[in-house]
Amino acid sequence: MPRQTGTAPAHQTAPGQQATPARSTVGPDPTPYPAAVTHVERLPVRPGATAPWPDWVPADLRDVLTTRGVQQPWRHQAYAADLAYSGRHVIVATGTGSGKSLAYLLPALAKLLSDPRATVLYLAPTKALAADQLRAVADLGLDGVRPACYDGDTPQPERAWIRQHARFVLTNPDMLHRGILPRHGAWSNFLRRLTYVIVDECHSYRGVFGSHVAHVLRRLRRQTERYQRVRPTTAPGTPVFILASATSGEPARAGSQLTGLPVEPVTEDSAPRGAVTFALWEPPLLPGARADTDDLTPVRRSALRESADLLADAVAAGVRTLAFVRSRRGAEVVASSARRALDEVAPGLGDRVAAYRAGFLAEERRALERALTTGELLGLASTNALELGVDLVGLDAVLICGYPGTRASLWQQAGRAGRAGREALAVLIARDDPLDTYLVHHPEAVFGRPVEATVLDPTNPYVLGPQLCCAAAEGALTSADIELFGGASVKQTLDELVAAGLLRRRPTGWYWTAAGRPEVDLRGEGGTPVDVVETSTGRLLGTVDPGSSHFLIHPGAVYLHQGVSYVVDDLDLDGACALVHAEEPDWSTHAREVTSLSVAAVREYRDAGPVGLFVGDVDVTSQVVSYQRRRIGSGEVLDTRPLDLPARQLRTVAVWFTVSPAALAAAGVEPADVPGALHAAEHAAIGLLPLIATCDRWDIGGLSTAAHADTEAPTVFVYDGHPGGAGFAERAYQAARTWLRATRDLIAACGCETGCPSCVQSPKCGNGNNPLGKADAVRVLDVVLTSLPESAD
Ligand SMILES: [Zn+2]
Ligand SMILES: [Zn+2]
Repeated sequence: MPRQTGTAPAHQTAPGQQATPARSTVGPDPTPYPAAVTHVERLPVRPGATAPWPDWVPADLRDVLTTRGVQQPWRHQAYAADLAYSGRHVIVATGTGSGKSLAYLLPALAKLLSDPRATVLYLAPTKALAADQLRAVADLGLDGVRPACYDGDTPQPERAWIRQHARFVLTNPDMLHRGILPRHGAWSNFLRRLTYVIVDECHSYRGVFGSHVAHVLRRLRRQTERYQRVRPTTAPGTPVFILASATSGEPARAGSQLTGLPVEPVTEDSAPRGAVTFALWEPPLLPGARADTDDLTPVRRSALRESADLLADAVAAGVRTLAFVRSRRGAEVVASSARRALDEVAPGLGDRVAAYRAGFLAEERRALERALTTGELLGLASTNALELGVDLVGLDAVLICGYPGTRASLWQQAGRAGRAGREALAVLIARDDPLDTYLVHHPEAVFGRPVEATVLDPTNPYVLGPQLCCAAAEGALTSADIELFGGASVKQTLDELVAAGLLRRRPTGWYWTAAGRPEVDLRGEGGTPVDVVETSTGRLLGTVDPGSSHFLIHPGAVYLHQGVSYVVDDLDLDGACALVHAEEPDWSTHAREVTSLSVAAVREYRDAGPVGLFVGDVDVTSQVVSYQRRRIGSGEVLDTRPLDLPARQLRTVAVWFTVSPAALAAAGVEPADVPGALHAAEHAAIGLLPLIATCDRWDIGGLSTAAHADTEAPTVFVYDGHPGGAGFAERAYQAARTWLRATRDLIAACGCETGCPSCVQSPKCGNGNNPLGKADAVRVLDVVLTSLPESAD
C-alpha cells in the first residue's frame, strides 16, 4: 500500500505523563484526548487506472456492464480476467472495494455466453454472500446464464432443476462437502461441463477450517476430472480456479495450498481511492489504576466506551461512521451508549445510530445500506459479520474497536472509509491486550508490512484422515489419488485408516466400508458441541465447543449469553448438555486448569548454544480442577471450589524454546524467579503470535516450566489448540525471531509496573496469572534473541 509516514509525531502515552486527564463521564469534555492518538498515517489519493475491454468479452456482456456504469475495467480486473480466460488459475488479492467480482465474472460470464454447454461453480464462505452475488448476477439479466443458489435453504423441489439446468451455481464449501460431492452422480451433468470454479473471500479459509476446505476442493477436482474424462465436453485442464482474496501475504502460496494447483497472483490494485487519515488510538489509563499480578484489573478505559464516545462525537458532527466491534454484544453496547449520549445532546438524535447483527435478512441489510447511504442513518456499530454481506463503502469514518486479528481484516475494515474527492478517517482503538498495545505503539507493524500469510495445513492427520474417508466414500481411492491429496503423508494416513477398520484395502484401491457416509464437520473441532439448556424452560440457549466446555460451563460457572447471566447447575459430559438457570450473582467464575505436556517427536530444531528452538508433535493433558469465585468490580477472591472433571488429551504441534539455567543466571534471573519469567514470556508470546500467523490467541495454548522432563531445561511451549495442529506452531518456528523480538519489545515497552493485560497477563491462564515476572521475561527473551541465528526469521 502506498504510504507516507510521519506527518504527525508518534506520541507514546505512559503512566505519569498523561497529557490530558482521563475523560470524566460527567459533562462534556472539550479535549478529545490528543494523548490517546499514538500515530497518524496519511494514505494519499490514488487515481484509478483502467484497461481496454479484453477482446474476448462478448458485446452483449460489455453493453450490459457499460450501461451499469463500468466504462472500462480497472487494470487489475482486466489482467486477472485475461489470465483466467487463457486457462491459468489465478488469485486476485486486492483491497476492499477494488472490484474483485468483475475480475471473476468477466471470464465466467463470457464463457457461459459463448459456450452454451459450460457451467460455473461459485463458492462463498457464507450463504448471505452467495445470495448477494446471485442477486448481482441475476440483475445483469443475461440470457441463458441461469444462476441459482444451492444451499441448505434451497427448497427440495428446486434442487433437481438446479442440478439439471442451472449453469451458474452459487453455494458454500459446507454444501459442496455435504450435499454436492456425496451425490456427485446427480451432478454429473453439471460437473462434466464445469469450466470455472470461483472461490470468493478465500482468505476466510484458514486454520483447521481452511485445511478441510482445501481437501473439499481436491475432492471436487477429483470428481470433475472423473466425469470430464468419461465424456470430455470441455477444454483440457478445466476447471480453472479463480480465487478472490482480501489483501494477503503470499497469496499465490495460499491459493496453491487451497487448491493444490499452481496459482498466478494478481496483487496490484488499480482501483481509485480517496485520501484516508488513519489514526492509532490507545485508551487512557484510568486514574489510580494499578496492575495487580493476581488479577486482571483493567488499567485502561475500555475500548468499547472509547468507541461509543467517538461514534457519538462523529454522528453529532454529521459524519457517516461505521464502528467495527469484535463481539455482537460489544456492538450492541457501543450502539446503545452512543445513542444515549446523543439523546442527551439532542433528543431524537440517537435514532440515527443502529447496531447490525449477523442473521439479518437480505432485505434488512439492504435497508441498512440504503439508510446509511442516504444519511438517514449516520452511525452503525457492527460485528465483522458486515464484512460478508453488506455492501458499504464510501463512508466518512470507520472506527475499529480492537484489532480484528489480522492486518488483512484491518485493511478490509478500514477500506470501507473513503469516497472519491473526500478525505476520510479510520481509527484503530486498542483493547487492553498485548497485541493491540503492541500495534498502537509500533505503527510500522501496521503500515510498514505486508499483510500476514493465510495459514492452513492440509497435511494435518486429523483433517486428512476424515477427508480421505469422505473421498473414498465418493469413489474408491487409487494410488493416483495419493498425489492429489498430498503425497507421502497420505500413504501413511491410508494405512492407519485401514488398520482402524475405516477403509478396506483391495487390489483396486481403498474402499469406504461402513454403511452411510463419514460424519465430518468442516467447521467442527471434533466431538459433539455441548448444548446449554435453561432448566426451567427447556430452551436451548446456545452451544459451546467441546474443547472449551470444561473451562466455560463447569458446574457453578457463571455463563453469559447475549448479555444475560446464567449459572450452570450441571454439566452432563456424556449427554453433551449443560443445565443452567438465569441468575446474576455479584461474582464471576474463573476455572483453574492443570496442564502437562510431553514431547512425542521433534520435527525440526535449531541448536543455538544455550538456546534451543524446536517444532514437533506433543501430547497435552489438561484437567480443569477447580474454580475461583471473584467479586465483580474489586476482583476479591471469595473462595476456590473443587471440580470433578476428567482429564483430556490433545495430540498437536508445538513450538518451544529452551534456555540453559547457566545462561539465565548470567542474564540476572535468579533460580527462584525462573518460573515467573518463563510464564510471563509464554503469555506475551501467545498474545503476539497472531502478528505473524492468521490465528486468534484463543487458538493457541502454552506451558512453561523451569525444568521439563523431556527437554531437561527451562522451557516455554506454545501449541496449536487444535487436534493435529493448524499450522500456527510451524509458522511460529519459521518466523521465531520476528515473533520473539516483538514479544520482547512489547513487554519492555509496557508502562505498567509488574505486568498487566496489555503485556504479560492472560485472560485464559489456567494458573490465575501466577507467578509472572515481567522484567525477568525481557531478560529471558534477550538471551533467546542474542543466541538465535539471524536465519530464524
Ligand atoms: Zn503491562
Ligand atoms: Zn498462564
